[in-house]
Amino acid sequence: MGDDDLPEDKGENVQQLVTETEIELAPVYAELDLIALENQRRVLRAFQRNRVSEYHFRPSTGYGYGDSGRDTLDKVYADVFGAEDALVRTQIVSGTHALSLCLLSLLKPGDRLVALGQPYDTIQTVIGLTGNSPGSLIGSGVSYRGVDFAPDGGVNYEALLQAIDDQTRVLLLQRSRGYHWRKSLGMEAMRDIIDTVRRSHPGVIVLVDNCYGEFVEREEPTHAGADLACGSLIKNPGGGLAPTGGYIVGRADLVELAAERLTAPGLGREVGPVPGGLRLYYQGLFLAPHFVVQALKGAVFAARLLERLGFVTSPRYNEHRTDIVQAVQLGDPEAVIAFCRAIQAGSPVDAHVTPEAAPLPGYDGGVVMAAGTFVQGASLEFTADAPMRPPYTVYLQGGLTKEHAKLGIIEACEALERLKKQSG
Ligand SMILES: *Cc1c(COP(=O)(O)O)cnc(C)c1O
Repeated sequence: MGDDDLPEDKGENVQQLVTETEIELAPVYAELDLIALENQRRVLRAFQRNRVSEYHFRPSTGYGYGDSGRDTLDKVYADVFGAEDALVRTQIVSGTHALSLCLLSLLKPGDRLVALGQPYDTIQTVIGLTGNSPGSLIGSGVSYRGVDFAPDGGVNYEALLQAIDDQTRVLLLQRSRGYHWRKSLGMEAMRDIIDTVRRSHPGVIVLVDNCYGEFVEREEPTHAGADLACGSLIKNPGGGLAPTGGYIVGRADLVELAAERLTAPGLGREVGPVPGGLRLYYQGLFLAPHFVVQALKGAVFAARLLERLGFVTSPRYNEHRTDIVQAVQLGDPEAVIAFCRAIQAGSPVDAHVTPEAAPLPGYDGGVVMAAGTFVQGASLEFTADAPMRPPYTVYLQGGLTKEHAKLGIIEACEALERLKKQSG
């Protein structure tokens, strides 16, 4: 199984390839099921240990003082992530907001931030590398050094250790590739980086952008030694049910700083009402290990089917994964449009809408997005994004059921085949 030397069956009937692909992928799916089982166990135990009860789902109003549902959800998250503390809030509006709270509460004028790899687009704006937001870190007197990954995707330790000096307060690591053609940072590599940096710079705070990564491996960054990790609840840990929100997990003193930044010094985590109640957040977290693996099975299926049709993918279908993103080089703008339109047409919501390339700051040529989701912008649901520039890569992510992702991918592959026939 997993024979890389199979001939490329370009032009063959997609349906026939689907059957062969599914048989070939059985051992990959089986391995993913084991990861889901282990993560499900950890989540379940956290619910039980923290005595989650029906009354924790009740709404709170006003200041939200003494909301035991909210405070218990924090404890459940801390437990799941192997962290001292957690802050899970509907008032954190996105992953960018969660990360921004961490960065802005940790870094003071004169401090330095070091990041490994190019941060996610919206985070570049928070740092002040793009845009000219007056509230950015650089705008408020924080200095920044970026360290590139080595050409082979590995870590350039010499450059990293050189970049970190006495001024450096925070090292930012991003687990997911985001929308870049680079390898994602797996938990083993992350542990290695953290251990190495700690040896020479014990005081540096390691902050991890964990977006897209939760429950893809058996461990999280906080298990691997990170001081803080954060992410969005409309991605993996919300399990497709959380309608909004973000989380921060890690060292208690640092979570407290972020909480004071979110509300006000002195108020911190004590305020924050949840008028709608938190049932969907608990239930979403409970379901997240399963849904993440549904998304991963969809990604693996997409990778193998598209490889068999002759496309270059990253990660390859049988490569180690640490996030839910699947990149595929389609090599042609028309193919990107056709692919994304097929994904959109295969969505449960807004299937009748036709995606077009639209301008997005920081992307010349614009970006095409296919997203027919129940929760706006939710990318644990099956979605595709593609910056319209060579090599015309499409980034797939999510899928609450593997069946839905599979149907969408088959449609998209058939659209590619039709396009190929048309152009001779
Ligand atoms: C999605 C994402 C973010 C930003 O999250 P938003 O919720 O869209 O603000 C940051 N980093 C990575 C790696 C992401 O995938």
